[in-house]
This record gives sequence, structure tokens and C-alpha cells, in this order.
Amino acid sequence: MTDEGHHLDPTDWDDFSEQMHGLLDACLARMEATRSLPWRPVPDDFADSVALDGAPQALDAVFARMTGPIMAQATGNTHPRFWGWVHGSGLPVSVGAELVAATMNANTGGRWQGATDVERAVLSYLHDVAGMAPEASGILTGGTSQATILALTTARARLFGTDIRRTGLAGLPPVRVYIAEGGHSCVAKALEIMGHGSDSLTRIPPTADQRMDPAALQRAITADRARGITPLAIVGTAGSVGIGAFDDLDALADIARHLSIWLHVDAAFGFWIRLAEAPWRDLARGLHRADSIALDLHKWIGVPYACGACLIADAAAHRAAFTARPDYLASAAEGLAGGDHWFCDYGMDLSRGFAALKAWAAIATHGSAAFSRAITDNCRQAALMGELARTTPGMDLATPVISNVCCIFTPGHDPAALAARLQLDGTAVFSTGTVDGRPCLRAAIVNHRTTGDDIHAAIAALSALLA
Ligand SMILES: *Cc1c(COP(=O)(O)O)cnc(C)c1O
Repeated sequence: MTDEGHHLDPTDWDDFSEQMHGLLDACLARMEATRSLPWRPVPDDFADSVALDGAPQALDAVFARMTGPIMAQATGNTHPRFWGWVHGSGLPVSVGAELVAATMNANTGGRWQGATDVERAVLSYLHDVAGMAPEASGILTGGTSQATILALTTARARLFGTDIRRTGLAGLPPVRVYIAEGGHSCVAKALEIMGHGSDSLTRIPPTADQRMDPAALQRAITADRARGITPLAIVGTAGSVGIGAFDDLDALADIARHLSIWLHVDAAFGFWIRLAEAPWRDLARGLHRADSIALDLHKWIGVPYACGACLIADAAAHRAAFTARPDYLASAAEGLAGGDHWFCDYGMDLSRGFAALKAWAAIATHGSAAFSRAITDNCRQAALMGELARTTPGMDLATPVISNVCCIFTPGHDPAALAARLQLDGTAVFSTGTVDGRPCLRAAIVNHRTTGDDIHAAIAALSALLA
């Protein structure tokens, strides 16, 4: 008897099962105790402790290291008082899905398999939330950054023709993309990667209500066209990372349609405000008119990292921008090489995992109503934090709270030092930003575990540091 063909699988499945159950129990215990497990600084000897020398270690030792020191060194965004940057808080049900997905080990780049239908079901749900037509296209991505590249690449192929896939940038006129001043850096990065350079991004100033000024946008486009520059896309922001602002998407869609320019919306977290109660849901009115939308499932609905999506209204344009089928990727009429929808035709990855399952499990289990409550609660909590910041001595509300982001001035105190203090104490995680050129503490609340008490406690702790 030989173990050829099995030597990377367990030899004793009963023992493996016992170890796996222990691992699962440790994970569940951590999830249940999450309120008492804020971010902790990484110990100095941690990097050395995980170095690999190529020698095998016993499974129980590897599992113990994973569920012990490694699991303890997380980002901390599973904690109810984590509001730094824009980090999702994670859903236990999706941990189960990750286990199933890893077991299947599906390569969802193409071929005839059920995983494709699961991803299409998730995309169809996203089209519904956006209000897009059912025949719209889309693909799950690693996040909004990647989705932005896919969206703008599709816009470019539709504008200049798919020959550009062969001929590249040579012979193209200079292009411009227009975005609000508070728009995310991933759009500039997309333009760098696409070869246009970040100088092809024009930032349009806001009106007094923190939305991109449509008149200034029109003027910029008209002036550019007059000097031979071709507008590639208008990028609307649904939920700005700095202050949670939403552009007037209807106004941008009117301009885009009138001037025949692609409208892309960065809706990384703000997409989900479509599920919130009024008045917040109306912030993203007009979202359904976008040619493309980039969004994250790993932020506001808490699907574990990484999970984003690119939605594109024109399915043919989407496919034409990416499809590539050399002989080794030919479809067949029957067998595993069948199936009429291969996701490798819609993005840059050929091999890709089954991230759709954790999104599918999250949506199937919780449904829109539960997400709606969590998202609406977060907006109320940001408003509460804003009210406390306005009325607590020593701090000021930096700018009115629009959605789920609250920015706080701390006159006489460095916000970065205060943020670090609260993080190191395990009290709460704020990050920092600037409003009107002044540094501030910033909370972007996309956390389904946060309660009003957490907001009160964090502001009380901040107040104590300012006293
Ligand atoms: C997080 C974020 C991005 C980038 O998304 P990733 O998923 O991190 O790539 C882009 N835009 C906004 C508004 C964001 O909040």
C-alpha cells in the first residue's frame, strides 16, 4: 500500500475531524467574545514567531498557533467600537460559507458549475438594490478599487472601440475623468494603472451642501472638449470616505446623458444606503441611472474580506472589454467546458475563488430588512455622535453629519495622538481626516455591533482625554 496521491491529505480523518472541531470552537468562542476583544498592538517578536523554515509542524501545533497568537493579531474591526477608515465588522454566517467554499475549492473563472449561478444570484440581488435593469451585467471583485478599473476600462472600450485592446493608448486623444474633490484615491490609481496617469483626473469643487457642483462640472467638460480633450467618465461619489457625502446622482446622470459621457458611481459603502430608511435612502437617489457602479460587500453589510462588486448596465460592452478565449479556454457544447456564462469574460482574473458564497449566505440568511435596520442604526448613531461632539466641552462637530460619518475637531489637541491613545487603550478606534484644512477625528460607522451606549462611552473617553 502506498500513500501516493494522498500524502497532503489527513491519514487519520477521525483525528483531523477532532482537530477541526476544536478549531471551529475556538473561532466561535472568539466571535462570541468579540465585544471584549479590541485591536491589540502586534508584539515585537510576532513576525519572527511566524517565520517559515520549510520544516513541517504537527497539525495540532499549527492549529493552536492560528487560533492563539495569530487570531489575536487582527485589525480589530470585529469590535463594536471600531469606526476607523471604513472597515466592515464581519458576519458569523459567512464564516460557515468560507468553510464550504474552501472545501469545494471551486475555480469560478468559467466552465459549467453551480458556483456561477450563485454569483449571478448575488449580482442579480445587487442589480435590484441599485434599481438597475435585470439584464445588467456585473462581477464580484476583490473590492471597489478593482471594480473601478473594470468599470473605467469598459467605459474606455465602449468609447474608443474594442480595437483599443489591441492597439493600446497610442493614437488616443488625452482623456479626462471628473470626480468631486472628496472622491476616493482609487479612481486616480485606476487611471495610473490604465496608463492615462492621475493627471487625467479633474477634481470638481463642491457646492455648499458638499456635493459636486454640476455647473462647474459642465464648464470643465465644455472647456476640455474645446481643447481636444475627450471626457472618459464622470465619477459620482455615493458616500465620500472623508465625510460621507453623496453627489446629486440625478444631476450627474442628466449631464452624462446630455453630453454622452459614461457615468460611473463609486458607491463603496454608500451603495447600501439604498436599503436604509428615509431620509438616508434618498441620498443615493439616481444611482440606478449609472452606467457602472463599484461597491463593497465587505464594508457596510459585513461580508468578510475581500468582497466587492462591479455592476455594469451595458452587458455587451462589459463582455467586449474583457473576453479572451484562446483554444485552451474554448467553450464546449457539453461537458464541464460548457456553461454559457464564464466570469473570466468580465474581468481581469482567470482563476478566481468562490467569494460569492459568503455574500450569498449573508444575503440569504439576513435579508434586506436586517441590513436596513443595521444601516439605519449606524446613520442614527453617527447623528448621535455628532450631537454629542457639538455639545461636549472641548470638542466641535467639524461638519454636519450627512450619513454615517462623523468628524470631530479637538481644538488644542492633536487628533492623531488622541486616536492612537484610544486605540492603544482598547477603548475605540477612530481614524483621522481633514475638514476645511483642519485635522479631525473621524468615525465611519459601518458596524452592525455598535450600540448607542458605545457612542456615549467613546465620546466620554475622548472627553476625559481632553479635560
Ligand atoms: C473603501 C473605499 C474605496 C476602495 O475600496 P476597496 O474595497 O478598499 O478597494 C473606494 N471608495 C470609497 C468611497 C471607499 O470607502
